[in-house]
Amino acid sequence: MENTLTCNNLKCRKELTDRALVTTCSHIFCIECVQRLGLVGQDSQRRNTCPVCNAQLAKAEDISINNLNPIEEFKTCVLSGLSPNFVMECAGRAISFWAYQTTQNLHYQQYLYKTLSEKYSALWARCDQINRDSDAKVNSLCEKLESMTASRDILQRKNDELAEAFKDKSRKLFQTQELYTKVKRKAELGRIERAASDAVDSSLRSVPPPVMNNQEAHPFPPPQFNDPNERSYPSSHGLRFDATAFVPGLSGLNTQQHAPEGQWPRKRTPSHGKDP
Ligand SMILES: [Zn+2]
Ligand SMILES: [Zn+2]
Repeated sequence: MENTLTCNNLKCRKELTDRALVTTCSHIFCIECVQRLGLVGQDSQRRNTCPVCNAQLAKAEDISINNLNPIEEFKTCVLSGLSPNFVMECAGRAISFWAYQTTQNLHYQQYLYKTLSEKYSALWARCDQINRDSDAKVNSLCEKLESMTASRDILQRKNDELAEAFKDKSRKLFQTQELYTKVKRKAELGRIERAASDAVDSSLRSVPPPVMNNQEAHPFPPPQFNDPNERSYPSSHGLRFDATAFVPGLSGLNTQQHAPEGQWPRKRTPSHGKDP
């Protein structure tokens, strides 16, 4: 509302539109502050100093509760009967009261504006500083991000190279393992063939060879015959000892092919399972 006074209690500053207490020291208070500050009541309990300027308000006439929106009859009667000089003096004092309140309010508003401006400037400077710090931080983070992206690309390339090398090594390892398996099988086959050959040799060595002309060395000396004619064996009889009946391993030998008379069958050389 235009031309509205406010309560002079600085902790209240309420706009006064209805009733208010005015003092002879040109101060004005809302009804709530009047009650709170003890400006009305019995003389012994009433506050007799102004809460703003500490002026003495000892007399009952030093304070007055006025209606700020007087009815028309009040306007007609309040100054009626007074001489124009009194009327002008009263009006002058009322105008002075208004001018003082307006000046005080203006000073308050100016100080408020100044304080708000300073706070606004401080806040603006702080926001500006925060913006600059944020920009610097964002730039730093952007640079860091670029650096990390570059590092990630390098690591990605290295990873790809390592993956390719690993693939190559794995392929070579697989080939080596296959080769090792082949060599191992070959070695096992060689061992088996040697073992079989050794078994054959051992079996042949354990069988004493027949000696035709040496009777002391012959394990089975020929029977003694009284008749000299009985010593002549037919050529088909043969003195050769058939070892196949004792050594199963010899069953495969070519013992059915008789060597020429008087000769031991030729020893079979190991041929790794193949017939010569
Ligand atoms: Zn108030
Ligand atoms: Zn006062």
